[in-house]
Amino acid sequence: MRRKLAAGNWKMHGLRADLAQLSALNTAHPDPAIDILICPPATLIAPACAACDGGAVQIGGQDCHARASGAFTGDLSALMLKDAGASAVIVGHSERRDAHEESSEDVRAKAKATHAAGLVAIICLGESLAQREAANTLDIIAGQLSASVPNSADATNTVIAYEPCWAIGSGLTASPEQIGEVHDFIRARLTARFGAAQAGGMRLLYGGSVKPGNAAEIFAVSNVDGALVGGASLRADDFTPIISALEAAR
Ligand code: PEP
Repeated sequence: MRRKLAAGNWKMHGLRADLAQLSALNTAHPDPAIDILICPPATLIAPACAACDGGAVQIGGQDCHARASGAFTGDLSALMLKDAGASAVIVGHSERRDAHEESSEDVRAKAKATHAAGLVAIICLGESLAQREAANTLDIIAGQLSASVPNSADATNTVIAYEPCWAIGSGLTASPEQIGEVHDFIRARLTARFGAAQAGGMRLLYGGSVKPGNAAEIFAVSNVDGALVGGASLRADDFTPIISALEAAR
């Protein structure tokens, strides 16, 4: 059985005062039946870990460099994120692929570095609106999946997040049929590459305007093992009902 995962991506939001949201999440979910992960800005990783100490909420990073150390001003390695207390790193988010022109080969190198540091890589994939409208979604996903996921991936260190670019931060959500088609496709592709035992343990998250009002419908879709949530993860009052919907979907 795959343990469900509710992951929050705070993006470039959050100051120390917002750590109170993590304390509220820990209090609201003292013994959750699922995994809970919040990825705050890197500046908050260490204090967030301190705020969550002894609680269920785990802390992750939003990106890392592909190298463990070196002359890369302003960058952070997976090892540094681990040292600060992170247990996972999001790699290949569409905002990184777009705004920082990261290729799937870059994402693969970052995921490999994440694995080498002993952390879980949450590898993001997703088609643009133009690609979906041109009926290219599965081809795009197949290409991103094979190029972005390193051979070091296994059931314990890899989570795949399907995030249609057009649904991120837009208020638009993919339909259950659209989500199910892509998630079933990803599971089949992973199985062909890594075998049923490893692929069957890799968790597949949906991301794209997940809210308290649509979470239950999304979590009922086959091969959806949780969500990667942006805006609705910033406040405990919004994220708590999403966590509860995922617990109820087990
Ligand atoms: C995200 O940042 O990965 C995301 C899915 O954002 P939102 O939930 O705000 O659409």
